Amino acid sequence: AYDFAERVGRVEPSATLAISNAANELEEAGHDVVDLSVGAPDFPTPENVVEAGKDAMDAGHTGYTSSNGVPELKEAIAEKLRADDVDANADDVIVTPGAKQALYETVQTLVDDGDEVVLLDPAWVSYEAMVKLAGGDLARVDLAPHDFSLADGIDDLAATVSDDTELLIVNSPSNPTGAVYSDEGLEGVRDLAVEHDFAVISDEIYDEIVYGVEQTSLASLDGMADRTVTINGFSKAYSMTGWRLGYLHAQGDLISQAGKLHSHSVSCATNFVQRAGIEALRNTDESVEEMRAAFESRRDMLVELFDDHGVDVTVPDGAFYMMLPVDEDDSAWAEEAIQEAHVATVPGSAFGAPGYARISYAASEDRLKEGMQRLFDAGLLGD
Ligand code: PLP
Repeated sequence: AYDFAERVGRVEPSATLAISNAANELEEAGHDVVDLSVGAPDFPTPENVVEAGKDAMDAGHTGYTSSNGVPELKEAIAEKLRADDVDANADDVIVTPGAKQALYETVQTLVDDGDEVVLLDPAWVSYEAMVKLAGGDLARVDLAPHDFSLADGIDDLAATVSDDTELLIVNSPSNPTGAVYSDEGLEGVRDLAVEHDFAVISDEIYDEIVYGVEQTSLASLDGMADRTVTINGFSKAYSMTGWRLGYLHAQGDLISQAGKLHSHSVSCATNFVQRAGIEALRNTDESVEEMRAAFESRRDMLVELFDDHGVDVTVPDGAFYMMLPVDEDDSAWAEEAIQEAHVATVPGSAFGAPGYARISYAASEDRLKEGMQRLFDAGLLGD
């Protein structure tokens, strides 16, 4: 009875879905599954943030807000961006239900049928889907041969972009690699963006989760302020995945154009959630640091473990993911890992990186050790 739009036929359901279905089936059959496929911190939302959400509900903040967001939250976001050296103004912010919606609105606002959009592989799964839904054509630059380093892959990017390029999507710290791009790499992007006059989406959702390196906000670089859409959200740094809160920031007309999509689709982000977001931005330094430090010690533990077992991983400097070098047929490997060892991972192909599997270390040290031991024992990893 339905004649589906051609655009939905262009995309597949999220690759992590098949894995989590398999994990659920095994668990229902009574097996203990170590699930390292998830992209959500394993910590509760900081208590004061939860309280702020409850208080806001009690205070009656349950109606629509201005479409672009509650002014105090937009101001707190602008302050955060200014602390990252971005020339930011509260009027240049749209608050969205999750960073994903901010990305979706931005891509819909900038990309026409046939426009070229460049991704840096391995790339987060939804960028490709968003570009295809908008009708854009993808060009991909593979950073895997460069150990996921943007600076080392900049010549490949230079060879790919041209005056026909409409948009580049940059994600640092990166999901799935954990790479944090150096200033040299970001300046390389800036030079190309200025030369060929294209816009850049800078997805900085993992910016609070870095290990001994500085994360530079792309919009803070000379020449980038008026061509960078900065995306961020509350899911990762504040462990607020289910609250659905994120934002986009850009100078110039982008906000009025994207604002049309925003107001005609979601109207606004949830009122009391936005109020909790103010608390998250202003009053969580300690909890954010506790979570960051926990991720760092898990990373260190894993790196040591892999070292002991002869697994050659690229050490991530941020986020909470690591790419494991596995069989060429990474989908078959991930299938075996879940079925034989009961360890859930995501095949690298989902991110444009065949030959790898992504693990998330948003899990306790004990579970991480258990999961890795099972992979070693099954002969799926290590020497
Ligand atoms: N961007 C990246 C790179 C992500 O990994 C995620 C979540 O997995 C998102 C954006 C979306 O986050 P949310 O919509 O929960 O804010």
